[in-house]
Amino acid sequence: MNATAVLNRIGVAYEQPLDAHAADGRCATRQAWARVPPEPAQAERGALKDRIRRLLKERNASMVSHYYVHPDLQDLAEETGGLVGDSLEMARFGRDHAAQTLVVSGVRFMGETAKILSPEKTILMPDLDASCSLDLGCPADAFGAFCAEHPERSVVVYANTSAAVKARADWVVTSSCALEIVRALRAAGRKILWAPDRHLGAYIQRETGADMVFWSGACIVHDEFKAFELEALKQEHPRAKVLVHPESPAEVVALADAVGSTSAILKAAREMDAQEFIVATDNGMLHRLRTQNPDKVFHEAPTSGHGATCKSCAHCPWMAMNGLAGVVHALETGANAVLVDPALIARARQPIDRMLAFTAALRSGQPAAGLLPHLGAV
Ligand code: SF4
Repeated sequence: MNATAVLNRIGVAYEQPLDAHAADGRCATRQAWARVPPEPAQAERGALKDRIRRLLKERNASMVSHYYVHPDLQDLAEETGGLVGDSLEMARFGRDHAAQTLVVSGVRFMGETAKILSPEKTILMPDLDASCSLDLGCPADAFGAFCAEHPERSVVVYANTSAAVKARADWVVTSSCALEIVRALRAAGRKILWAPDRHLGAYIQRETGADMVFWSGACIVHDEFKAFELEALKQEHPRAKVLVHPESPAEVVALADAVGSTSAILKAAREMDAQEFIVATDNGMLHRLRTQNPDKVFHEAPTSGHGATCKSCAHCPWMAMNGLAGVVHALETGANAVLVDPALIARARQPIDRMLAFTAALRSGQPAAGLLPHLGAV
């Protein structure tokens, strides 16, 4: 894989060569789509759900599901006392919950984060090879070299990265807390090295005015949204409010009525004075949006248009690899347990703990600026 640095940006293609699967077990896009489990027939679906309910009790296990996975996995997590949430909520829930086994339905970095925060727990996933274009596009060795070129900068990495990349960071952030953390770092006079999502990084730079250099990764789902087509859809639905995840391109973010993480999008849909919305994020979110707002109408933002090279059509192939049968298999056999090198855990835990401490303090009303020295990294 070749890395090229251009004007303070470094880009690594997210797509791995086909033999990458054999080398590190993670799937490139085509492999991920080929591994999406078939939709079970209705009777089988019910039987799989019953087995999961029984196995969760027998194994003293809890389900943690991301908003982008199949609705069945979201509903089961909620129904059985687990969690459906964004990656920050998943991390916090996994750390604090008493269950000794967690079934994480999402992508690999989410399982790794759960393991880093709770090394004594068993972390299972429906499919361990479910990855993320941001993680695939930010290999630890090339990233370490990029960091070494900017030793004066605070290294802020998005949660969508490997444990090895997190181990190189001063801060881990998610899209629900990145703005506040970067704002606080800027107020403390810090310059920032940001990785890996270029669109989210650029959005945060626009919002905070921070001095940032960027890794040039992208989410293959959000990178596909098209401003031109979104303008046309807005004209078809002039009363609709536009909700955009900041992993989307700047021209799409510019058309938004609300910009934010998956949790922020849910909040906006609940609280905004509108009955109709256009949503620019993974279409797995529509299940939750429609369940929470049965009287409101949600349209998917368009991914097609001039120059479209859609690999996702607004759904993440790696999230789609999670299925009911995979949960059953993991719980019955103990297969697909997430393992992380203990030395990496020790290093990667610090920037994640900082994020969790920072967000907990913010929620309790403490001013952000005064928090950084106490958290050991400015
Ligand atoms: S939706 Fe995008 S950011 Fe999320 S896991 Fe998939 S590729 Fe990664």
